[in-house]
Amino acid sequence: MAHHSDICIVGAGIGGLTCAARLAAAPSSNHLSIKVFDLNTHVGGRILSRKLDCGEIAELGAARYSPQLHPRFQALMHGFQHRHETYPFTQAEFQGHTQGRLRATLLELLCLLEAHPHDSFLGFVSHYLGEGEARRTIKAMGYDALLLPMVSASMAYGIIKKHPETQGLLDDTGNQWRYAPAGYGQLLARLQKQAQSDRVEFRMEHCLHSISRFGDSYLLAFSHRGSSQFHRARHLILAIPPSAMSRLNLGFPTRWSPHQYGSLPLFKGFLTFDTPWWRDLQLTDKVLVVDNPLRKLYFKGRKYVQFYTDGENATYWRDCVEQGEDVYLSKVRACMEQVLPLGGKPLPPIKDHFHKHWSHGVEFSLEPRVRQPGALLHRDGVIACSDAYTPHGGWMEGGLLSAHQATRLLQERLVGAPERRP
Ligand SMILES: Cc1cc2nc3c(=O)[nH]c(=O)nc-3n(C[C@H](O)[C@H](O)[C@H](O)COP(=O)(O)OP(=O)(O)OC[C@H]3O[C@@H](n4cnc5c(N)ncnc54)[C@H](O)[C@@H]3O)c2cc1C
Repeated sequence: MAHHSDICIVGAGIGGLTCAARLAAAPSSNHLSIKVFDLNTHVGGRILSRKLDCGEIAELGAARYSPQLHPRFQALMHGFQHRHETYPFTQAEFQGHTQGRLRATLLELLCLLEAHPHDSFLGFVSHYLGEGEARRTIKAMGYDALLLPMVSASMAYGIIKKHPETQGLLDDTGNQWRYAPAGYGQLLARLQKQAQSDRVEFRMEHCLHSISRFGDSYLLAFSHRGSSQFHRARHLILAIPPSAMSRLNLGFPTRWSPHQYGSLPLFKGFLTFDTPWWRDLQLTDKVLVVDNPLRKLYFKGRKYVQFYTDGENATYWRDCVEQGEDVYLSKVRACMEQVLPLGGKPLPPIKDHFHKHWSHGVEFSLEPRVRQPGALLHRDGVIACSDAYTPHGGWMEGGLLSAHQATRLLQERLVGAPERRP
């Protein structure tokens, strides 16, 4: 027999949690039952905090935000009085390129952007510098996605401007950047608790497979610890990203949106050591962009070293991990020894480490220049929310923006049509 709820939200990342908390607190839905389902054992999705052996919280997923670029996320932090600190990694050092030379090249090319509205960034830069120099210049910035044919020149300038490591290449004043020393995991746990105290129920380890119409309700088929479970719901919000939407039976994206969506893998590796040896190299709180698979190396205070890669290099590290932790660690060591001025000495022993590969780490619309709808609506009434449907694809801000739009759509419906129980 199917269980039921008035409102069902699938996905307990920042988007789904925000939908749940807002709907539970809204007068239009405060008499309705709300259930949230997620395939994981824990809430958070691509927000995943973990405590390192040095006591510091490491963010395996989302790590930083800018109060200027991400006002909704800033308001969420403020609302829960969640402590923030300045994110230090805003002035990258670009190995093999000086910041001044990169900056001059990018600013010079920026004036020519309008003549190339449809070119990829690589095509655009190659047009003026030749392909070899264009590849070197783009690679020097540390984000491999900038080389992809689907990344247009204007999209690339947006990415450079809106990332802490590269913003200084285009903008003198720059946006401020922050992080949460106690971790975003704790922030989301508080959001979940708020929703629970407003009667929202959570069902973890439920993977949604298909949805069908059942009278004026939806019938959702989940797998849960090896068995099938069904759930009936009058209203449905799918707070799962496009890559997960396309695995359902709802004709995504064609029946939802005129746009196509893409995704890229991401990989983060964290390493701790007995002593902060990088202090002697004047690398504390610096980020180095390097020309090997580590790509971006961050030296956090006296605490840890992290690297962060996207695209092919994320896949490279996933493949290394699949060959065994020893293979992975020896490659990390070799890459670090290759780019750090260690004076011929080996890298000090790695004390502890962990890593996370995200096969769809960042999800986005392939037509970023068109107006993004915020949330999607299927003709059967199902609502979908994800950062990918907003101008803030790839950011927690987008998850919030989309969740706000999704709840607005549902609330309008609830106000227009008083509820009958399923
Ligand atoms: C490595 C990395 C670094 C990042 N860095 C930053 C950063 O510095 N700053 C920033 O603002 N953002 C960053 N982001 C992006 C940010 O994490 C996302 O934009 C945001 O978390 C998206 O939230 P969401 O709720 O829309 O989706 P998700 O977090 O993906 O949540 C979707 C949820 O749906 C669940 N789900 C999926 N399919 C199903 C199914 N079939 N059945 C049941 N449940 C399902 C998943 O388990 C997941 O919990 C980063 C992301 C990654 C991976």
